[in-house]
Amino acid sequence: MTAQQRIRDLTLQLNRYAREYYTLDAPTVPDSEYDRLFRELEALEAEYPQFRLPESPTQRVGGAVLDGFETVVHAVPMLSLNNAFSPRDYDTGAFDHAEFLAFDERVCKELGVAQTEYAVEPKFDGLAVSLLYQNGILVQAATRGDGTTGENVTENIKTVRNIPLKLHGDTLPEMMEVRGEVLMLKADFAALNERQLAAGQKPFANPRNAAAGSLRQLDSKITAQRKLHFFAYGIAQLAGIPRQPESHIEELALLGELGFSLPYGYFGVYTGAAAVLREYERLAEHRPNLPYEIDGMVVKVNSLAEQRQLGFVSRAPRWAVAHKFPAEEALTTVEAIDVQV
Ligand code: NAD
Repeated sequence: MTAQQRIRDLTLQLNRYAREYYTLDAPTVPDSEYDRLFRELEALEAEYPQFRLPESPTQRVGGAVLDGFETVVHAVPMLSLNNAFSPRDYDTGAFDHAEFLAFDERVCKELGVAQTEYAVEPKFDGLAVSLLYQNGILVQAATRGDGTTGENVTENIKTVRNIPLKLHGDTLPEMMEVRGEVLMLKADFAALNERQLAAGQKPFANPRNAAAGSLRQLDSKITAQRKLHFFAYGIAQLAGIPRQPESHIEELALLGELGFSLPYGYFGVYTGAAAVLREYERLAEHRPNLPYEIDGMVVKVNSLAEQRQLGFVSRAPRWAVAHKFPAEEALTTVEAIDVQV
């Protein structure tokens, strides 16, 4: 098979998987398989850029908007993240962090520094949403969609109990757009699947699909019956506040003060790659004990000025990386997925 044919086949196959995953909330292959094929396509496209197709998944974010939802055009695009994998040696248990180290090297080179400060936090395995507050009141919520246009899920989001409908505190921003992840806690997922089985309905494949299927319901009463949870991880727009945050960690602190849930005990600032990697290994060890699923750690350059200096590539920021954990999932329940959208 020629490189051109392989690129065409991979593009078709990955676009089908992406539609099943993002639009239908019903994946048919494990994420690790999707990631493997995605990387093969990225490598081939880098070698043969003349064969890259305009509809290549490497050039796009997420999936399509479902019929039935009003759409929201994002004022600031909702991007993806580039990945760094750390394969583990089964005999010694040692991680190979070469990909993360290459990310750190690129960042430091671009910034002209020997080392920099990173904010690290869990990579929540749910779905991204944007929440818009005006004068402290939640006025709009949207899914990421294709990164440019998302689904208006305001009514559904209002049923998520740990999302403040009104921000806490005395000095509220005139306008703020919060970004974060909606997910289902492992215990709530297990209880939901028990109820599904007891009612003679099919169980959900995993908490991520259950969360996505529950949030993207046309009837918000169904969303209200599913226990969803929200963790904030960033601010996309902020106006009318005495002092603007200057770092990612200051953004998180502000979000905490305004009433958002943060992953306490699992986020912080670390200087240099070695300190970040120690935190990665700690988080990988704690992963099974967390009440929610995570598939890695997100590492972001902490200074917002440095983030601006680094900028973006087509579908992801250059100042952040999703440092993924080795795959632990296998999609054993494909046929049992209930697509409730
Ligand atoms: P991603 O999950 O690789 O990274 C971007 C997303 O990370 C953001 O949109 C946000 O939702 C999330 N995120 C979680 N915690 C965050 C934090 N602390 N800070 C910032 N963002 C955070 O993005 P993607 O492009 O949506 O998905 C790609 C992944 O989805 C693939 O790596 C693959 O594993 C999976 N996928 C699987 C299939 C399949 O068929 N199984 C198909 C498509 C995609």
